[in-house]
Amino acid sequence: MRRPLVAGNWKMHGTRASVAELIKGLRHLALPSGVEVAVFPPCLHITQVMTGLEGKSIAVGAQNCAVEPVQGALTGEIASSQLADAGCSLVLVGHSERRLILGERDEMVSRKFAAAQSCGLVPVLCVGETLEQREAGKTIEVVGRQLGSIIEELGVGAFVQAVVAYEPVWAIGTGLTASPEQAQEVHAAIRAQLAAENGEVARGVRILYGGSVKAANAVELFRMPDIDGGLIGGASLNADEFGAICRAA
Ligand code: PGA
Repeated sequence: MRRPLVAGNWKMHGTRASVAELIKGLRHLALPSGVEVAVFPPCLHITQVMTGLEGKSIAVGAQNCAVEPVQGALTGEIASSQLADAGCSLVLVGHSERRLILGERDEMVSRKFAAAQSCGLVPVLCVGETLEQREAGKTIEVVGRQLGSIIEELGVGAFVQAVVAYEPVWAIGTGLTASPEQAQEVHAAIRAQLAAENGEVARGVRILYGGSVKAANAVELFRMPDIDGGLIGGASLNADEFGAICRAA
């Protein structure tokens, strides 16, 4: 009943030439109709990707948005209204690289989440624990706090038009993947936290897994009952590999 979503997070990768190659590869993919597919290029390349993928059912999103939804004096930032104007339909918020390297706090993440929704974009809220937090037995607490801050600020109804991505920090770009059971445990906890507020919202929300997903491990991850697709970093830069992951969903 939940349509799986497989999303490629290109991070800070690409030149106009390499993006053109990737677009060519994506255009050739045979994608399963039951799966929603999206890519998140660097902002600089969004228009190129949008034009290049015209007619192909791949949605385009941004990796970040400003805390303010409307354009204005905020040097270096991009407003959700501008992303919507460029044709984006989704935006990542709270990716761990932004939380940990750029110091984004829960409060900022919830403002970005709200800004995105106010412009009709679907926010993909990224949550996840560090290795230290996992080893200290704090995984559910940390993820629960990241999710809880959005519920507190915006209400559980905000998740009707949103996606959650569970990405253990220790699994991102490391080649270490959470086992399907480890991931399922956290996904189930996320859904239970939402269900405690509203069962229908919890049943409808898609929860993606991210962290070293490849074609080789996607099938067993996506088989778990509360894993509704993936947020793919490194492997999404290779069109054939990304296509194989989409077909696994
Ligand atoms: P990875 O990144 O697939 O390269 O581990 C996932 C992400 O950070 O979204």
